[in-house]
Amino acid sequence: EAARKLFAGETDFLKGVVAMDGLPPDDRIEVCFAGRSNVGKSSLINALTGRKGLARASNTPGRTQEINFFTLADDHYLVDLPGYGYANAPVAVVEKWQRLLKQYLSGRASLRRAFVLVDMRHGIKPVDEEIMCLLDRSAVTFQVVMTKVDKIKDRERDRTLAQVREKLSAHPAAYPELVLTSSEKGWGIPLLRSII
Ligand code: GDP
Repeated sequence: EAARKLFAGETDFLKGVVAMDGLPPDDRIEVCFAGRSNVGKSSLINALTGRKGLARASNTPGRTQEINFFTLADDHYLVDLPGYGYANAPVAVVEKWQRLLKQYLSGRASLRRAFVLVDMRHGIKPVDEEIMCLLDRSAVTFQVVMTKVDKIKDRERDRTLAQVREKLSAHPAAYPELVLTSSEKGWGIPLLRSII
């Protein structure tokens, strides 16, 4: 009921942030979403909020390095972290992004949980592990959300889930329970809302 009420409230884009001094005041509950580019992060945020096109469903060049804040009702922020793992991103861009991300994750008192999105077809990749280590060091509890669950067969799914569980066991900040989602089919969306 609380989740229903929360997500029935207004959701809006607040701002894109490129430096720490642009962050809104940390005066409300905040959760963030991280994941490799193309993992389905925009689709998931749109499915959660029921607002198509709220988060860009494709990565608009120039906006990809911003931390995007969305207001949820009047007492929560949903935070869309820039997608990582671009093959062709210039080193300087990657470094700038990593610095901002580190500062944000280690210094945000109101951040209650990070959701790390992992594509059900690919499992956890080295770049995902990097962010997980950063979350460990920052003592930010994180939970893995598997995306695009509709795209694979049960047998492959079990293999990927075993890999993910094994890798997570090495991360002290990991919340052990995985959330399986498909933004396309709506699977796992009510569960994720209630977790938030
Ligand atoms: P982002 O780069 O992480 O924001 O990823 P997007 O949300 O833009 O999604 C990347 C691609 O995956 C798009 O073509 C989406 O339509 C597709 N996609 C996202 N979520 C799902 C899903 O749950 N199921 C399927 N089949 N495709 C999805």
